[in-house]
Amino acid sequence: MFAMKVRYLFWIGVLFAVGSAYAESVHVRMARIPDGDISRLRGRLPLPAKNDAASRGVFSLIRGTLDGNSAGVKVLTDGKLPREEDSPDENFFLFGKGMLLLDLKKVTDVTRISTFSWHPQERAQQVYTVYGNDQESSDHVDEMTGWKLIARVDTRRKEGDQGGFYAVSIEREGVTLGRYRYLLFKIEPTGKGAANHTFYSEIDVVSTEDRNLQYILPGENNRTFHFASKDRAYRFTVDFTDAPELEEWSRQKLAPVVSEWYGKLVGLLPSEGFTPRREVRFRFKDDMGGTPAYAAGGEICLNHSWYVSEQKGEALGAVVHEMTHVVQDYGGGDKQAPGWLVEGIADYTRWFLYEPQTRGARFTKRNDDIHYNDSYRVTANFLDWCQRKYSRDLVRILNAASRVGEYDEAIWKRVTGKTVQELGEEWKRELPDR
Ligand SMILES: [Zn+2]
Repeated sequence: MFAMKVRYLFWIGVLFAVGSAYAESVHVRMARIPDGDISRLRGRLPLPAKNDAASRGVFSLIRGTLDGNSAGVKVLTDGKLPREEDSPDENFFLFGKGMLLLDLKKVTDVTRISTFSWHPQERAQQVYTVYGNDQESSDHVDEMTGWKLIARVDTRRKEGDQGGFYAVSIEREGVTLGRYRYLLFKIEPTGKGAANHTFYSEIDVVSTEDRNLQYILPGENNRTFHFASKDRAYRFTVDFTDAPELEEWSRQKLAPVVSEWYGKLVGLLPSEGFTPRREVRFRFKDDMGGTPAYAAGGEICLNHSWYVSEQKGEALGAVVHEMTHVVQDYGGGDKQAPGWLVEGIADYTRWFLYEPQTRGARFTKRNDDIHYNDSYRVTANFLDWCQRKYSRDLVRILNAASRVGEYDEAIWKRVTGKTVQELGEEWKRELPDR
């Protein structure tokens, strides 16, 4: 008979912890933090570590399917927690059951295993069994024998709110969990249905060699500041977690332009019955390749390295372009605006309304190869010409129709008396000679 000890943690007066451990005197301790403030772990359970033995090992999924929206195994040891409670690309999660293998690279005396997860609903909960193996190495880990059960973890709550940040810690009193080269996590869904797979944020394995553990500190995973427009109608967040050196620039340069121009763009692109987003979030990211910035829903992602190099260059203009996309808010509908027009409007507001003095979309040379539908600044130039020559309402009308999925080429003719192709030819002829 194994001794089984489960220590219960009291959390804001609520008893919470369910788990079982099979190996002798193994303690499984758990905590749930509804609001995700990990400072509440202090004095109760270890905070997530950055430089533990797992971070020197290699995780691989040997059975099961990674969910397509998941970030993959790398986030389990990146020493970072997700910024918010529902952040698929900062968590590892499966589609179905699976087995996660950790190769510690050498036989290691393991003192503690900790797993951390975060989600607003049932996917916060953890259900898994962890085994260890002390074989030196194996080419066929799949067929390896000699696995020892270390603990089974099940943090599911029978009633009440299931969401939050979950921390699980597996230890043994006075002795280590054992010497292992490999750890195997048999991961189970938290319930029936497709969306019941735990959002694992970090897995720590601490060994007797880890004497100077560095921990993820509360607040470190989420460095943001908030501000509002002057009339308090709109609220903004800037997340500079991945770009701490841009904090000052964000506060001094970005915030004033955002708070002034978001509302202006809303006013420039009005339409009946339209409610603009009241909250917009800006976030610096490192994994954007060559893309300077993009907007998705109410979030604008900014390429960290591009913003470092363009602080005095194109940085703010690009933000106005992306904010235009947030304001455009073109959904579905039968008749969607063509991409060249969507980008043309965003560059029109940027180059002709926000920063006309830079003359970034003025052409000094007639070029037979350019066309009104070349998108971005070429289309912006075309739109500006149409606005000045034919109708000050053209962009507003094109935008209003696009917003409800009713874009139609006939709009050009109705507003200006000419087809878009005719306008394009005329615009080209009138571009300056040099
Ligand atoms: Zn764009």
